[in-house]
Amino acid sequence: MELSARTRRIAMSPTMKVTADALRLKAQGVDIVDFGAGEPDFPTPPHIAAAAHKAIDANFTKYTTNSGTEDLKRAIVDRYRDDYGVEYTPGEVIVTAGGKQALFNAAMSVFDAGDEVITHAPGWPTIVEQIKMADAAPVIVRSHAEDGFALHAEAFLEAITPRTRGIIINSPANPTGALIAEADLAALAEEAARRDIWIILDLCYEKLIYDPVPHNLVKVLATHNRERSILCGSASKAYAMTGWRCGWTIASAAIVSASNALQSHSTSNVCSISQKATEAALRGPQGCVTDMLDEYRRRRDELYGWLTADPRIRLTKPAGAFYMFPDVSEFLSPDGVRTSAELATALLNDARVAVTPGEAFDAPGFLRLSYATSLQELRRGTDRIFEFLNKVAEPRAART
Ligand code: GLU
Repeated sequence: MELSARTRRIAMSPTMKVTADALRLKAQGVDIVDFGAGEPDFPTPPHIAAAAHKAIDANFTKYTTNSGTEDLKRAIVDRYRDDYGVEYTPGEVIVTAGGKQALFNAAMSVFDAGDEVITHAPGWPTIVEQIKMADAAPVIVRSHAEDGFALHAEAFLEAITPRTRGIIINSPANPTGALIAEADLAALAEEAARRDIWIILDLCYEKLIYDPVPHNLVKVLATHNRERSILCGSASKAYAMTGWRCGWTIASAAIVSASNALQSHSTSNVCSISQKATEAALRGPQGCVTDMLDEYRRRRDELYGWLTADPRIRLTKPAGAFYMFPDVSEFLSPDGVRTSAELATALLNDARVAVTPGEAFDAPGFLRLSYATSLQELRRGTDRIFEFLNKVAEPRAART
């Protein structure tokens, strides 16, 4: 069957595939420890769920304005004013089905065939696929483990050509947990302003930063290149609301209007009940976010300690998000487990631990371990991983 060139160009999300594989095995009764899922294990906080119940009881179950309710847009601009000290109007906001649709709308709104769009690797696979869906060409700037996966402005600036139309940054980044420094983003934003390049900022993990480092990227873009900045945010990770599918774009009225047109012919408004829940999340007490962050920090520190106790594993401590991204190349060999993809498959099938291979993030030789799961599960899964790795390493050790 002949499919469109567009769908032939893209592949199924490998991060979502790991989740699906783990769910399938769990449904068969297999005892899987799941380090795959890139989503909080916490329940959605009760006051958020209560707002959704209330919405159903009030029959708030019909279409809303395609771009989202006025109340939610106001809640978004109020939160960004409180958190970042930047003023937006509701007319600069559109509510989207998660951060993913915000990024998709952005790509579709500003990229064309022949455009180059710069983004970073290791990185979240959806960004590159969306660039391709918009008929543009992804240009990859690599960040490096030796350097804590830092995103340096110079590397992006060097990648700019006359065809560059956009730069997409995810900070904190999935899967590395690295942050772009404010000064680096400012340098990029200024050059982008000079050259009419769009800066798209994926803020999906904006609330999950462990140390009090300066990271007001919203202010940086508002100061240095407000006109050509597109902010993509999400309720999913901060408020444990992945399934509710609610995110947003904050950008100029022209971008919001283009996104609105796209959305009006594809998904229409985000679920009315989810919008009410997200409004409660953004307007309600923010203590639930810090409580979850504190727990992620505990898990990060424990897991980091367990993994780095083995000198064969090289690992950068993540500054944000909830993923460990160890270099496991020491365990790979041409006559054993050859790639991190094979290792991830073997870990799932033999050790019963779901992890995402580095290949999913354009970074072979690494594994992504989500620590959005309980400490107990982290301990159980780490034991299984080491038991398996030691088995893999044995024949190699015997040879040397
Ligand atoms: N962002 C999450 C992850 O990387 C969820 C899956 C997805 O949408 O890609 O695992």
